[in-house]
Amino acid sequence: MRIDVLGVGFDNLTMAEAVAEGIRLAGSEGTSYVVTPNPEIVEVCRENLAAKIAVNEADLVLPDGIGIIKGAAMLGTPLKEKTPGIEFAAGVMAGMAKAGMSLYLLGAKPGVAEMAAQKLAARYPGLVIAGTHDGYFKEDGIVAEEIRCSGADVVFVCLGAPKQELWMKKFGPATGAHLLCGLGGSLDVFAGVVERAPKFWSDHGLEWFYRLCKEPRRIGRMMKLPLFLAHVKQEKRKK
Ligand code: UDP
Repeated sequence: MRIDVLGVGFDNLTMAEAVAEGIRLAGSEGTSYVVTPNPEIVEVCRENLAAKIAVNEADLVLPDGIGIIKGAAMLGTPLKEKTPGIEFAAGVMAGMAKAGMSLYLLGAKPGVAEMAAQKLAARYPGLVIAGTHDGYFKEDGIVAEEIRCSGADVVFVCLGAPKQELWMKKFGPATGAHLLCGLGGSLDVFAGVVERAPKFWSDHGLEWFYRLCKEPRRIGRMMKLPLFLAHVKQEKRKK
C-alpha cells in the first residue's frame, strides 16, 4: 500500500529496496516507469490532473527529498527514508553494469547527454550506453522510435517535471525499454555541468537551500515548498 501525501501515493521503501526493485523491473518483460516527486511536483499534481495521473500510475513512486519525508511524518504516516532520484539512478546503473544492460540518456541541453554518457561509461565499467538525445525535440514519436532501435533496457528521461512524467506514460511503451526513470536535472549533474550539494547539506535536509544559493532564479519554484507545508498542515487539521 502506498503512503498518500496530498494526493500522491509514495512507495515506502529504503534506498536499497528501491534500487533492487528498479533492477528487477529493468530485467522484466513489459515497460515500467519510475518517478521521484519532490514537494514542488506534488504541488504541480494538485493543479494538473494529467500530471497527477502520470505520477500515480508509475510503477515506483519515490520521495526525492526531505520535504516529502517531513510531510508524510506530519500526516502521521511516515516513510522509511528519502530516496533521491540521482542516488537511485546510481544504484540502478551499478546493477546494470554487473548485468551488462544498456542505458539511453534522454534530456538536457544539446551536448550534455553525450558528456554524461562518457562520464557514466567510465564510472560504471560494463554499463552499455545505447544512445543519447537532447531534451529539446519536437517529434516525440521519432525519438521514441530512435530509442526502440537502440535496444536500450533502461532510459533516463530528464525533461523536467511534469513533462518527463507525461512523456514516460505516453511514449514509454513505444521505446521498447523495460524501465524508464524520470530524473529531472540529473544529466546536468552526471555531465558535471551542475554540481550537487555536498553531503553535509543533504544530510541536514538543506540541499534545497544550497541549490537556491547557487541558482537564485529558482526562488519562484522554491516558494512551492512553504506552500506544500501549509497544505500538509491543512490536511492534518482535516484528519
Ligand atoms: N529540459 C529538457 N527539455 C525541456 C525542458 C527541460 O531537456 O523541454 C531539461 C533541462 O535542460 C534540465 C532538466 O530538464 O536538464 C530539468 O532540470 P531541473 O533542474 O528543472 O530539474 P529538477 O532536478 O529540479 O527536477
